[in-house]
Amino acid sequence: MRMIGVMTSGGDSPGMNTCLRAVVRTAIHAGARVIGIQRAYQGMIEGDFVELDARSVSGILNRGGTIIKAGRSEEFMTKEGRQKAAEQLRRAGIEGLVCVGGDGSFRGAIALEREWDVRVVGVPGTIDNDLYGTDHTIGYATAIQTAMEAIDKIRDTAASHDYLFLVEVMGRHAGFIAEAVGFACGAEAILTPERPTDLAALHKMLDYAAERGKKSCIVVVAEGDDAGSAFEVQRKLNLGPEHHVRVTVLGHVQRGGSPTAFDRILAGRLGHAAVCALLEGKRNVMAGIVADRVVFTALEETVTRRKESPANLLEIAAVLAT
Ligand code: ADP
Repeated sequence: MRMIGVMTSGGDSPGMNTCLRAVVRTAIHAGARVIGIQRAYQGMIEGDFVELDARSVSGILNRGGTIIKAGRSEEFMTKEGRQKAAEQLRRAGIEGLVCVGGDGSFRGAIALEREWDVRVVGVPGTIDNDLYGTDHTIGYATAIQTAMEAIDKIRDTAASHDYLFLVEVMGRHAGFIAEAVGFACGAEAILTPERPTDLAALHKMLDYAAERGKKSCIVVVAEGDDAGSAFEVQRKLNLGPEHHVRVTVLGHVQRGGSPTAFDRILAGRLGHAAVCALLEGKRNVMAGIVADRVVFTALEETVTRRKESPANLLEIAAVLAT
């Protein structure tokens, strides 16, 4: 394979740049050229390509975001859009593609492979950690670190004013961020989409905590929780004025920033593995790391199989918060 394309797709996540550097340098080391597909699938449709040499990825390993830009594309959701994209790849001489992104990006890659026989290897790049076939996705460790630091600050205010904070964190349809960060911050309750939220029980628990002398509480709410957003939870809970409820939505602060050491190592290993896999003839798989070993999982499986959270953090958190 003489020419590889690389894209960073969907929402940006810290470590995408680190991964890009690994892809470019691994490919060049093996004698292949690398084309950066800017603005992901929309840039692919428009032929917004740039050749990446070894120096073009200097100094980005520790920078959040992605220098070739991320993004979403409505047009790529159509067969005509994907046809244009495949023609652009062929015209540019791109023989294989490394797609760094989340489940939506992989669904797009699966369609491209099925309809136009494009060789794709995926790399899990999303803060949500919701892909089957890897213990961690690139960006997740940094996102939970960022959210934890923010909630620690909120805790200071909660304790100083005897407030009850409902803090909404990202994660789209998954509760991995909420679970990890709630645990790390000693939240009194953690609401995730994976288990039905019982607001009456939560109301009771918070009243009981107040009776037992807890003067301030933190409730972490995953943005995809079945009870709704943190503001909706506040409205539905309808707690008495003695709780002094405040709501904070952490929002996009969780997506940027310099990747942690863990994410840099993960991103470097997976970028390297993805290029090696393409060069060995693998296709239609995602490179992931399970129990510290690189493994490859069919792209289809990564988006259809449910990733479990084996650590039982919610049960332990409930015990530790008493
Ligand atoms: P992520 O990869 O982070 O999950 P999105 O879900 O927004 O991000 O997906 C990124 C892009 O992938 C979308 O804007 C779209 O262009 C493409 N995509 C998502 N789902 C599909 C699909 N079922 N078929 C084709 N393309 C898709």
